[in-house]
Amino acid sequence: MTSPDTPRLAAITARLRERGYRITPQRLAILRVLAESPDHPTVETVYRRLLPDIPDLSLATVYKTIAALKACGEVLELQFSDRDNRYDAARPEPHPHLICQGCGAVADPELPGVEAMAKALARATGYSILTHRLDFFGLCPKCQIKRDKPDQASPPDPSEKK
Ligand SMILES: [Zn+2]
Ligand SMILES: [Zn+2]
Repeated sequence: MTSPDTPRLAAITARLRERGYRITPQRLAILRVLAESPDHPTVETVYRRLLPDIPDLSLATVYKTIAALKACGEVLELQFSDRDNRYDAARPEPHPHLICQGCGAVADPELPGVEAMAKALARATGYSILTHRLDFFGLCPKCQIKRDKPDQASPPDPSEKK
């Protein structure tokens, strides 16, 4: 909890303070998880990650902190009809996502050209584009191994097979 702020965490806390939010130690811990987790955690995930360090943390505090981030435009919320919302405070601007239908992993693919597509669409239609959402659904490499070999309890990490 004493590690120095990353640039993104510093930007988030500055923005919240500007808007009159108090940065309590609990809020800071929540913001740190949200700003530094590449896996797009749910509210529950953030809560469970922090509970060992902050036993008196409440789920409501996590919800309220995310609401503050949303009010400041500093988090991207991904809503789903069949699963819990996921949050990306590392990259609050709209960007495409890869979503595993097996384990629920959510990743940020490098996909150039999306912004250009939005601009071209605005030009072609006369719409002013405010935001966009592009999700790719499928099975991550680990879940593909599980599907092909269901007996194999823990598939090897593909990055170790060199
Ligand atoms: Zn998966
Ligand atoms: Zn993302």
